[in-house]
Amino acid sequence: MENHLDDNVVTLAKSPLGMVQRCRCGGYHINIQHVTLHLSTEGFGGLADLIRQAKEQEADNAFFSSYTNGAEET
Ligand SMILES: [Zn+2]
Repeated sequence: MENHLDDNVVTLAKSPLGMVQRCRCGGYHINIQHVTLHLSTEGFGGLADLIRQAKEQEADNAFFSSYTNGAEET
């Protein structure tokens, strides 16, 4: 019964990585390359919080900075 046709969605954000769309099915579509996630309002908010927490954790933890540079150093 769900309808995800293009005329039922509004693009909220778009980048080379993918895009986020609000859909008349009541949820959000998150397109990342070949993957599409269908999320409820609660799920979308939860995912945004989860990613923000992950980024904050990474920024706060100097240990991980060695991961981004280590491979190219000898
Ligand atoms: Zn939809």
